[in-house]
Amino acid sequence: MNVASVIVDVITKQTDKTFDYLIPDKWLNTIQPGMRVIVPFGPRRIQGFVTEVKKHSDIHALKEIIEPMDLVPVLTDELLQLGNWLAENTLCFKISAFQVMLPAAFKAKYGKKIKLLSRENIEILPKEIRPFFEKSETVSWEDIAKNEHITLFQKEAARGTVEVIYEVKERLKKKKVKYISPAHSIEILIEQLKLLQKNALKQKIVLAYFIDHFEPVELQKLLARLDVSQATVKSLIKKGLLTEKYVEVYRDPYKDRTFAKTVPLPLTVEQLNAVKPIHQSIEQEINRVFLLFGVTGSGKTEVYLQSIQKVLAKGKEAIVLVPEISLTPQMVKRFKGRFGDEVAVLHSGLSAGEKYDEWRKIQRGEAKVVVGARSAIFAPFKNIGIIIIDEEHETSYKQEENPRYHARDVAIERAKFHNCPVVLGSATPSLETFARAKKGVYQLLTLAKRMNNQALPAVEIIDMREELRAGNRSMFSRLLFEKLTDRLEKKEQTVLFLNKRGHSSFVICRDCGYVLNCPHCDISLTYHRFNQQMKCHYCGFETSVPTKCPECSSKHIRYFGTGTQKVEEELGKLLPEARVIRMDVDTTSRKGAHERLLDNFQRGKGDILLGTQMIAKGLDFPNITLVGVLSADTMLHLPDFRSSEKTFQLLTQVSGRAGRHKLPGEVIIQTYTPEHYSIKLAGNQDFNRFYEQEMVVRKIHKYPPFYFIVMLTVSHEQLMKVISVTGKIAEFIRARLSNNAIVLGPVASPIQRINNRYRYQCLIKYKQEQNLSQTLKAVLDHYQHDIANGLTISVDMNPYIMM
Ligand code: ADP
Ligand code: ZN
Ligand code: ZN
Repeated sequence: MNVASVIVDVITKQTDKTFDYLIPDKWLNTIQPGMRVIVPFGPRRIQGFVTEVKKHSDIHALKEIIEPMDLVPVLTDELLQLGNWLAENTLCFKISAFQVMLPAAFKAKYGKKIKLLSRENIEILPKEIRPFFEKSETVSWEDIAKNEHITLFQKEAARGTVEVIYEVKERLKKKKVKYISPAHSIEILIEQLKLLQKNALKQKIVLAYFIDHFEPVELQKLLARLDVSQATVKSLIKKGLLTEKYVEVYRDPYKDRTFAKTVPLPLTVEQLNAVKPIHQSIEQEINRVFLLFGVTGSGKTEVYLQSIQKVLAKGKEAIVLVPEISLTPQMVKRFKGRFGDEVAVLHSGLSAGEKYDEWRKIQRGEAKVVVGARSAIFAPFKNIGIIIIDEEHETSYKQEENPRYHARDVAIERAKFHNCPVVLGSATPSLETFARAKKGVYQLLTLAKRMNNQALPAVEIIDMREELRAGNRSMFSRLLFEKLTDRLEKKEQTVLFLNKRGHSSFVICRDCGYVLNCPHCDISLTYHRFNQQMKCHYCGFETSVPTKCPECSSKHIRYFGTGTQKVEEELGKLLPEARVIRMDVDTTSRKGAHERLLDNFQRGKGDILLGTQMIAKGLDFPNITLVGVLSADTMLHLPDFRSSEKTFQLLTQVSGRAGRHKLPGEVIIQTYTPEHYSIKLAGNQDFNRFYEQEMVVRKIHKYPPFYFIVMLTVSHEQLMKVISVTGKIAEFIRARLSNNAIVLGPVASPIQRINNRYRYQCLIKYKQEQNLSQTLKAVLDHYQHDIANGLTISVDMNPYIMM
């Protein structure tokens, strides 16, 4: 007996385990662990992952696998194991863990259809639904779901004349190109050339070409080069002189670009000291985690490149993660420039098809290095020699939906399997990482100096309250305005940074303070100048801008806060001669726009680059000598224990954009809270002081890295239900954890309502709890029924979003 254990694609507690299926003899050696198969499940045909192939099953009367979906396994043994680890550590179902590791193109949607079981049945169907089956055995669910006769279909299904089937829709087509090759030896081709009729001139040209170039050539190229028609080539194929075949090609997103080849730079002493232990770990196959702590512009990337070089020399592979936002062409260029076609790139700008192509290059071992955002951590390499995470403190490495994994944790887990190093790089490491490095859990490597030996830019902090007192109502302080003018005269470039995260342009009544809120979510609506609408960023609700206050009828209701458009307008008034390039979600939503704008700026087509978070990283242009931060504190007041850390990191990153090359840089930070330590210390670029001060705060309030935390959020349309469920859960958890654990709540979430669903949360702080995972699973089990009926319970084992 040959049996496959399969994890089926049904997301419920009961199905979160393997089911055994018989492997039909014809597929005995075809079906392997890590492959996807179609299996019968109740009345349905569904997809599943084979996790094991074995000789025996305790189950009687096994059903057979219907068909395989892959020719080769899509998950390696290591990734199957990793899936179990993910499920255990993020409390997700195994099927979700497997799916998250694969490109989206694999997630074939199921087409639900109604099938007529036998042609004879058509006579006994009610006449209303007969027409549906006139031409075909099946009708799609969409076609009947809204139909008034749906109950008739239901009755027929009960009677057994029709049934519901699930069809896996066609998977993504591989892109193929036709190639033409010679079918005989050169000698025979020469002989045949002589035998061709005199007037078959074009055929002679083609044949002569293959005698000269005895190798396959793409059909389209052949036609273009020789200026012959497809018919000419066809007739030679008919004569058996040439053959045609389809070859799979990849849609390479960087296909039409060439990258100037770069060579390893001679390393500085600091870089050498960092590279040595990494090389050693690669050489001796020792699993280690390094923190490469280096200020911006200290040459971290060169350390990455030369570490990868060592890995490739050993015949192994490398994964490099960079935050989506800094996965710019500039960054890609540095890796492609060094390692050429061996580099695959995975980022969200690619279409599903392009991502799939990059994934297949990795799977087939044609790429040895992958550079990508978060999900690239699941690259299906078999022989990993290093995993690098650049800007390791970035919160985008945490996935904020199921499975809620952190790429850093996955990296460390994979590196254990492959006995290889993990390198975490940052100028502003997360507190958790830095604490581990200080304790020696990670090995600390420091690059203290900038490459050009330029001092870090001089930072000036401006108290905007003072400006107001001095009668300056503009969004630019007097100093910033002066410097802006100065740079325009000197023809140097400026970056203006607007921190939009946290709060944006909202409408407030100047008389009574009324703020226009979303009627479905407890959050203020955002003013969109573009279409003069107020919009909710959580549920999409839109309404027009009020002309008078709904509360007190005052006409003094207007928007407050500064958006990039507002700043652009203001610049237009104050500095009409300045050429401003604005980068925000509105100007960069089209494919390639991001890159084009940056390119224009780099080529000097703009004096001022104005933007949000997306310009904070990766920019490395020699002519930038001034960075202005318009509002440093918008993030400080978010209900999030990491808000100081995030503010510090962001300000440090932005400041690092100035003076990276020959010209010295200046930074001006405008704020309403200049006394706050995260702003003051970012001004001094003093990470160590910030770390110490913030650690004190974390210790007092029992936050990471002193405690681990779990956030449990409950939501439902009925407020009373949410409160009572969250209360019971908190009580249940409290009773099962030790006295060292702290269970806070239930309390209303900072955003109490999203899309008409009320939200309550409970926060667990702990150091070591044997029963935690089991307890949380028990909670989810207990409420299974309610969850199926509209209750949501989300468990985040290491939350980064506290709202
Ligand atoms: P980081 O990644 O730490 O921000 P980069 O790797 O971008 O720093 O380095 C900053 C600049 O210094 C880059 O232009 C880079 O090419 C250059 N650089 C890095 N290492 C060296 C080296 N050993 N010799 C000369 N230039 C270097
Ligand atoms: Zn009012
Ligand atoms: Zn809303």
